[in-house]
Amino acid sequence: MARLDGTVALVTGASSGIGEATAVALAAEGARVALVARRRDRLEALAGRLGGEAIVIEADVTDAEQAKAAVARVVEVAGRLDIVINNAGVMLLGSAVDAPYEEWERMVAVNVDGVLAVTHAALPHLLAAAETADRRVSDVVTISSTAGRIARAGSGVYNLTKFGVGAFSEALRQEVTQRHVRVGLVEPGATVSELRDHLRPELRAAQAKRFETMEPLQATDIAEAVVYMVTRDRRQAVNEMLIRPTEQE
Ligand code: NDP
Repeated sequence: MARLDGTVALVTGASSGIGEATAVALAAEGARVALVARRRDRLEALAGRLGGEAIVIEADVTDAEQAKAAVARVVEVAGRLDIVINNAGVMLLGSAVDAPYEEWERMVAVNVDGVLAVTHAALPHLLAAAETADRRVSDVVTISSTAGRIARAGSGVYNLTKFGVGAFSEALRQEVTQRHVRVGLVEPGATVSELRDHLRPELRAAQAKRFETMEPLQATDIAEAVVYMVTRDRRQAVNEMLIRPTEQE
């Protein structure tokens, strides 16, 4: 029997990178996965690879109504919700002085508002799952970043969003942990994905150079960390995992 047999997991940003790898890894552990992102074609392709059980939900998490509807849909189709992976995110680096303000708005919208909207909608279902399901524990894991621990020049608003979700997670953890909803944070360092494709060209080049100085993590490395967290016995909550490429300073 796989460790997550009978559970239902919702993964935001499942159309690429860390979210996609995490959805694959959770499904391999037996979870029925709900794949949430805007690019339906990518989600359909992934669902095809995973087999018949995956649930595809096209949604923009920055729209609270869409986030709420996504959660409701999962519960309608699958009957419950045990695991939420708040993974959707954008990283639009650059110095504050030169930054287009829309980039800041976008980061706050996806990395903060998206996490809040999905978590808010999911909490009643996670509390219910922790009380009634066989597993008697449920999980919210948010993908933060090393940028949620260390602020750097050129990364201020990204830092703000990731420090912010860290603060929210810790406060929420204290509120719900006695009801067996575990609240965790995974903080990756440089990981191969599409995250840097959205940078302005000059910044993309700088990031590509930075990658040349190290062997970066693969999305599957982070997926393994998530799986580790959500497969612990219910007495054990792994609240935080910081994972960097060995060569990252
Ligand atoms: P990708 O760009 O590969 O994936 C980002 C995902 O977020 C995509 O699936 C995208 O789907 C989704 N997304 C973006 N905007 C929205 C939206 N408005 N609504 C729904 N989904 C959205 O990057 P990563 O896999 O690297 O990023 C995943 C997480 O990991 C992010 O939170 C990022 O901050 C974090 N992280 C990444 C690191 C790295 O080096 N790669 C390091 C540290 C943290 P779609 O466009 O289809 O909507």
